[in-house]
Amino acid sequence: MHTDKAHCSFCGLQQGPDLPLIAGEEGHICEECVRLASQVVGSWGRKRAAIRPMKSLLKPAELKARLDHYVIGQELAKETLAVAVYNHYKRLNMESEGQQMQATADDVEVEKSNILLLGPSGTGKTLLAATLARVVGVPFVIADATTLTQAGYVGEDVESILGRLLDAADGNQDLAEWGIVYIDEIDKLARSSESSHGTRDVSGEGVQQALLKLVEGSRVKLNGKGGGKQHAERTVDTRNILFIAGGAFAGLETLLQRRLDSRGQGIGFHVDLSDPKTAYEACRVFEQVQPDDLRHFGLIPEFIGRFPIITALHELDEQGLVQILTEPRNALVRQYQRLFEFEGVALRFTDEALMSIARQAIARGTGARGLRGVMEGLLRKTMFDLPTTVGASECLVDEQAAGAGQAVKITIAADSP
Ligand code: ADP
Repeated sequence: MHTDKAHCSFCGLQQGPDLPLIAGEEGHICEECVRLASQVVGSWGRKRAAIRPMKSLLKPAELKARLDHYVIGQELAKETLAVAVYNHYKRLNMESEGQQMQATADDVEVEKSNILLLGPSGTGKTLLAATLARVVGVPFVIADATTLTQAGYVGEDVESILGRLLDAADGNQDLAEWGIVYIDEIDKLARSSESSHGTRDVSGEGVQQALLKLVEGSRVKLNGKGGGKQHAERTVDTRNILFIAGGAFAGLETLLQRRLDSRGQGIGFHVDLSDPKTAYEACRVFEQVQPDDLRHFGLIPEFIGRFPIITALHELDEQGLVQILTEPRNALVRQYQRLFEFEGVALRFTDEALMSIARQAIARGTGARGLRGVMEGLLRKTMFDLPTTVGASECLVDEQAAGAGQAVKITIAADSP
């Protein structure tokens, strides 16, 4: 059939002046077949990438156990998120295997369930969302609701979030379309509360409307505005992107109090919120939030409807903050110990010192976020002196150093020159 002239082992075409061939051990291949093969292999790559996060889909209990390594307390939120994320990716898994989840008799399409996290600042909302994305292995972005604007206004368009998600996925669209988006400060989009009949803040409501389009699952065309210009003109399907929104919802407790009181379920919310103990109790009330409360707060019903899973995080007490200081994989105490190790110095804290640091952070009112500031202030002088202190072997932070402004005790090794 073929003459002695070399031919492409894939399509059979003969070598000629217009058809150069690449020679292999036992055969040849033409340019066209190389191109085709590259396309085929490219499509394998995409499928593999898309399936990657699903391959090792963890069960809710396993997911929560992973979260426990990084996030202290917040058991309710961790459990709720673990279940939601498991269901979300399981649904995707089924879909990607071509088995649409359908009940035998009546068609049941499992819709995605976006998640709303309520809780004061510095309680771990962002940390939870970011840790989840890392555990599941999908791209993740954080958007700040207060910087978003309605289309046509100056500022960051909601579509730019998708551009950033594509960036986080290194341009792999399939992976981006299974990513997680965390939208912070969602409560700031609420229109002015019902009680104040002043001017209505329409801009927040406009952003809620704009976000709806993204959140409810549609094909969104990127306009290349606000970063991610390289993705202009790309169309992203948001149907399977998991949206997690978070906010402090300051003032919501008053609305809750009204509702619960009117039903005789008030559990003593006529309390002084400046007292740390009662404020701590009051935070737990967020666990009772119903969608209707959020409507009263100023979120539009369509928006609330797209976040069927609502869960609350609560303020951490002294013990919780001490745990945050010491237990997570990258706990602050470990971070500073590592820094000191670079100087060849062991850093130790007494239990009382840790409690004192926790108390100071609580006083700052920014939750666990205050811990770093307190630590920095406490160790600044030592970190300044240490590199020029000859022979230092250990630093001890005790209660006097942590609470009473005394110097951190530096031990000089006996054999130092
Ligand atoms: P939020 O989003 O609720 O305002 P973040 O998640 O940004 O708070 O928390 C700020 C920082 O405080 C985190 O980076 C983390 O170091 C620490 N943190 C807060 N809550 C926790 C927690 N429950 N467990 C461990 N660390 C926490």
